[in-house]
Amino acid sequence: MRSRRIAAGALLLFSAAILSAQTSPEKFLGFKPGEDRKLADYNQIKGYFEKLATETPKMKLFTIGESTLKKPMIMAAISTPENLAKADRWKEIAHKLRDPRATTAEEARKLAKEGKAIVLITCSLHATEVAAAQMSMELAYDLVTGNTFFDAAKILNEVIVLLVPTHNPDGNQMVVDWYKKYVGTKYEGGSMPWLYHFYAGHDNNRDWYMFNLAETRAVSKVLYHDWLPQIHVDEHQMGASGARLFVPPFMDPPLPNIQPMVWRGVNLVGTNMSYDLQKHGYSGVVNGRSYTAWWIGACDDTSWLHNVIGILTEAASVRVATPTYTEPNEVPLSYYEKRMDYPDPWPGGWWRLRNIVDYELVASKSMIKTAGLHKEDLLFNFYQMYKTSVEKVEKNQPYAFVIPAKQRDYPTMLKMLEIMKLGGIEIHQAKADFVASGRFYPAGSFVVKMAQPYKTYAWALLERQKYPDIRQYPGGPPQPPYDNAAWTLPLQMGVACDQIDESFEVKLEPVAAVPYPKAPAGQGQGNYVLLNSQVNASYSIAFALLKDKAELWRTKATVSRKGVSIPAGTFIVKNTPEVKKALPPLLEKHHLAVLDLDDVADLAKASLKPHRIGLFQSWRGNMDEGWTRYVFDDLGIPFKTLHNEDIKGTKDKKPDLRAEYDVIVFADENPNTIKGTRPATAAGGPGGAPGGGMGQRGASTTPPEYEGGIGQEGVDNLKAFVEKGGVVVTLNGACEFAIADFGAPARNALSGLDRTRFFCPTSILKILVDPETPIGYGMPKEAAAMFVNSQALDTFSPPFDWERKVVATYPDDNVLLSGWLLGEDNLTRKAAVVDTKYKDGRFILIGVRCQNRAQSHGTYKFLLNALLYPEKE
Ligand SMILES: [Zn+2]
Repeated sequence: MRSRRIAAGALLLFSAAILSAQTSPEKFLGFKPGEDRKLADYNQIKGYFEKLATETPKMKLFTIGESTLKKPMIMAAISTPENLAKADRWKEIAHKLRDPRATTAEEARKLAKEGKAIVLITCSLHATEVAAAQMSMELAYDLVTGNTFFDAAKILNEVIVLLVPTHNPDGNQMVVDWYKKYVGTKYEGGSMPWLYHFYAGHDNNRDWYMFNLAETRAVSKVLYHDWLPQIHVDEHQMGASGARLFVPPFMDPPLPNIQPMVWRGVNLVGTNMSYDLQKHGYSGVVNGRSYTAWWIGACDDTSWLHNVIGILTEAASVRVATPTYTEPNEVPLSYYEKRMDYPDPWPGGWWRLRNIVDYELVASKSMIKTAGLHKEDLLFNFYQMYKTSVEKVEKNQPYAFVIPAKQRDYPTMLKMLEIMKLGGIEIHQAKADFVASGRFYPAGSFVVKMAQPYKTYAWALLERQKYPDIRQYPGGPPQPPYDNAAWTLPLQMGVACDQIDESFEVKLEPVAAVPYPKAPAGQGQGNYVLLNSQVNASYSIAFALLKDKAELWRTKATVSRKGVSIPAGTFIVKNTPEVKKALPPLLEKHHLAVLDLDDVADLAKASLKPHRIGLFQSWRGNMDEGWTRYVFDDLGIPFKTLHNEDIKGTKDKKPDLRAEYDVIVFADENPNTIKGTRPATAAGGPGGAPGGGMGQRGASTTPPEYEGGIGQEGVDNLKAFVEKGGVVVTLNGACEFAIADFGAPARNALSGLDRTRFFCPTSILKILVDPETPIGYGMPKEAAAMFVNSQALDTFSPPFDWERKVVATYPDDNVLLSGWLLGEDNLTRKAAVVDTKYKDGRFILIGVRCQNRAQSHGTYKFLLNALLYPEKE
């Protein structure tokens, strides 16, 4: 016995020695994180965390999901071994605190005493903002080895630190590979010619209420379903010349529904960060500038709406990992003088990746310290905020939002419910008919009551936004919002949803899972089956059937058969034995019913061919192209990507586009970028420019193979393509390409108007649609469209060879549905969508963002109809 005990003791000692976290990031990587021109890629970062997890009992590693390109996404939990062993208990406490309907204040006080603060740090969502991902390894190592400016053992006893080293692993890999390829050349630190997220690029931080991306879903699960952290810090980088680090407080305006206690918590954590940074002698920390508190789609911002203390940090950038030098006179005046929100200006000089790592280490540790010192308060306030959400009726607070059971596009409505559930919203379904605000709703309608823990989020998502009229100075031009002024999800998705202000009685049942209807048994037996053009999923099925060589038509007018209205553009499918086999699983997948008809001879119709689709991708990392690609993949639309050379040809080969394509799509992009008449360096810029680089002004950082655009040769080839019957689709800003370079008979009435005459920052506007015309098929007569630097087109009687058909216009008045609009009269009666014909082909001008960030499902049909333009009959 004795000897065995000794052996066990020796083993314990031995494992304690092993578990002393002897591998620092520097030892593992061969360089210190943040060293000039050195970057760890995702495999190395993941490898380091895996190694560290074997050396310390203070850290556990979890896989929280899979990236778009199928990389495992890791998250470390760091605390004391005892705390980590009881992780389930701390989560349980957080869940109890989130629901004050099931937890009394007295219980909450006890739970706050017993529980541990859970905090989340997410790094380098924007992959070119490389520092935080590099920093994460050192932060983990410092925490487990006690290298902190506070008593680590004491603080970690109170805090569970969740650390996501990068929530964009694919992007990290791309950026590091690109940087390493060109380090030591004149292209070092320049922009990558493609997006640093496979679909979204910089817009991966605009996805946090839509959850299109696998990465967003993985981190949101940690935030709102699994761990429920009370503080969430998301670490970014901004432009290079001003402040060194932004930490909250945020600037005006705030989203009005967010609880004041959220802002007090944000300010507490942010101010402590500034204090600790100052203590370390780090100058150039700024608060209250640049970053507003009005936005729902960014990672940290969505946290506020869930009563989580969401913190954004933005560090001054270097050129990826290449240091920069700023002459003191180059520091902008607004960051040169002392101000109360910027009391210790950065004087200029060298700025290195390691500087960013140092600032971020202090800011991250400061937050952990704040959480540890205020643990009990933090947890009890977490409870209090949800209690306020559930019990307090705020000014202008509706009672509920009702989503009627009868919808034009039922499957899209179900998708909206799915999205809301990902954000943690509680939804109920009515078990009986009811009346609310004098309106009748049938049983099966959905009800989102405001009295729920995530009230703020549900409210902001479903209501119509009224952006405050903030001017640069009294009577001056408007102060633009940071991003969208509006996002109202039901409007974007074309889903009917009513705000109900007065309370009402109805028997409700919680929706645990979105109730998808079963496809009706016995359907699909007619000689022909009809797919409703009002339903987006019908288009997915049409694409799938066309790929299988099925015979399809589209109806040319709205008619009635068997007492059912058949809207114009409805797909008629010849129900061959092959279709009988292929169709049922498609209907099952899309939860769709069809109309069976044995005879369609009397329906006016035009046949549909499987169109060969090309999507232009410039070398400027165009996010709208990425989202268009996302929509195509999501809906199963086959397409090929076209680059400059595919359109303009090479010295040896002039392409015959018409031989290979029927439709070519240009996503929202400046015509000069498409043609390549704009200098390549324009893509770089502050705030992690959309193009993805921190390009240096003046010098080209683009390797020659990615320079330029399609040129005049490309324009000529596209013209020949259209003359021979091809269809060119131009989205939003690209409409100007169709107008300027091909002479499409329209003109953007907004060009040249300054902000004092017209201003509409990303808002939702009313448009009137002609649903009896091919591009308007399936659309309602009145629709909501996303206006993002969009077009208001004046059309005119066209010259010879051209025809034009206006598909959608802005109405005479009441154009704004949600957001902010100044100078409405510049829009009224102008066209938003125009279908033009040139010789045998077409240019289709879709002047609004019909597929904006894969969010505006309600206007997808403009694009889908352009891809499925019926043949001439
Ligand atoms: Zn960023």
